[in-house]
Amino acid sequence: MDVLISGAGVAGPALAYWLRHHGVTPTVVERALQVRAGGYAVGLRGEALDVLDRMALLEQVKALDTHMGDVALVDRDGNQYATLPAPIFAGDLQILRGDLTGLLYEATRPEVQYVFGDSIAGLEPDAGGVRVTFERGRPRRFDLVVGADGLHSRTRSLVFGPQARFVRHLGIYTAIFSLPNYLALRNTGRLHNMPGKAAGIFSARADTEARAALHFACWPLAYDRYDAEQHKRIVAGQFAGEGWQLPRLLEEMSRAPDLFFDANAQVEMDRWSSGRVVLLGDAGYAAAPTSGRGASQALIGAYILAGELAAAGGHHVAAFAAYEREMRGFVAEHQQVGREGADWFFMGMPNQQVLDKLAANVPDGTRAQIVRLKDYAPSFAAKGP
Ligand SMILES: Cc1cc2nc3c(=O)[nH]c(=O)nc-3n(C[C@H](O)[C@H](O)[C@H](O)COP(=O)(O)OP(=O)(O)OC[C@H]3O[C@@H](n4cnc5c(N)ncnc54)[C@H](O)[C@@H]3O)c2cc1C
Repeated sequence: MDVLISGAGVAGPALAYWLRHHGVTPTVVERALQVRAGGYAVGLRGEALDVLDRMALLEQVKALDTHMGDVALVDRDGNQYATLPAPIFAGDLQILRGDLTGLLYEATRPEVQYVFGDSIAGLEPDAGGVRVTFERGRPRRFDLVVGADGLHSRTRSLVFGPQARFVRHLGIYTAIFSLPNYLALRNTGRLHNMPGKAAGIFSARADTEARAALHFACWPLAYDRYDAEQHKRIVAGQFAGEGWQLPRLLEEMSRAPDLFFDANAQVEMDRWSSGRVVLLGDAGYAAAPTSGRGASQALIGAYILAGELAAAGGHHVAAFAAYEREMRGFVAEHQQVGREGADWFFMGMPNQQVLDKLAANVPDGTRAQIVRLKDYAPSFAAKGP
C-alpha cells in the first residue's frame, strides 16, 4: 500500500511511525525545506503520553520537559501583581514544539521517505487510488492520501472546499519567537496583560534561551502567510508604544529567525474523509493553541488512524469511519477547552483569586481521557493477501 502524508509537523511523522509499525512505508511531503522548529511549548496530556510510550519516545520526551513553573503576572513597570499557576497551561508534561517534531522526525527518518520543499498541487481520484500532482516533483499515484498539513491544510482545500467554510477564528493572533534569556528567568516566565493584548517571556532549553509570545485580539486579517517581514510589521504595529519589556521584545522580534505567526482558530468539519483522502490533526480538527491540546490530539489521532487501517486490513472506508468514531467525542471536548481558553484571554487582568480558582478546576487529565487506546493488531502485513 502506498500512502502519501502531507505535512511533517506532529501528526504527519507520528502517523508515518505507526504505519511503519503496521508494515506500510509512507512518503511524507513537507512544504518547508526542513522540519519547522518554531513555536513555543506544547502541553502533552493523558493518552498522548501513552502513545509516546508505545513509540518508545516517552523517556526522551520527559528528558526535554520544560519543567515550567508558575508564571508571574506583571504590570507595565514589571511589578508582580499575581501568579499564574503552572497547571493552568503546562499539561502533564510540556515540551518545546520544535523538540517534539525533531524527535518524531528522527524516529522515522531512517525508514520513511521525506520530501521537503514541495507540496501537493492537485488530487485526482480514480477507481483504485489517487493521482497526485506536486508543485515541484513528478506526479505519482497513491492508494491513500493523508492531509496532516495543519490549520491551513492544502489537502483540505483541494478535497473539501475553501478554508473559510471550516475554520472558526477565535479572535486572537499569536506571535512566538526565540530570544536570549536576558531576564535570567529560571524555569519560569513573566506575563504582561494589556487591554486586548498580552505579552510573555518564558525561559526555554534549561534556561539557556527564552521564547516570547505576543497575543492580540483582532478580527481576521488579510496577509501573506509566508511573508515573515510582513508578520513582524503587523505585530510591531499592534504593540507600538506599550510599556514593560515591549520595546526590547519588538527589537528582538525584528531579528528573530523563527517567528511563528498565526490566528488561534479551530477547524470544524462534518467528516474527515472523502474517498481515499483523510485528514489528521489540525488539518481536520484543530482545537487552537488556547486548548493546549493540539499536539496531544495529533499524536492520538495518528495512532488510531494507523491502527484502524491495520485492523481493517487496509480497507479505508471501514478504517476512516472507525477513526472518526473513536476520535469525535474526544476532539469535541478539546475544542470546547480551546474556546474556553479564548474567553479566558479576554478576561483582562485577572486577580489571584480568579487564577487560583482556575487552577483548582483544571481537568486532571481524566476529562480528556475519553479516548480509548486499543491494542491494534494484527498488522497489514499479517492480514495481507
Ligand atoms: C511553526 C509552528 C509553530 C507552532 N507553535 C505552536 C505553539 O507554540 N503552541 C501551540 O500550542 N501550538 C503551536 N503550533 C500548532 C501545533 O503544532 C499544532 O496544533 C499541533 O501540534 C498539531 O500538529 P499538526 O501536525 O496537525 O499540525 P502542525 O504542527 O501545524 O504541522 C503541519 C505541517 O504541515 C506543513 N504544511 C503546511 N502546508 C503544507 C503543504 N501545502 N504541503 C506540505 N506540508 C505543508 C507545515 O509546514 C507543518 O510542518 C505551531 C505550529 C507550527 C507549524
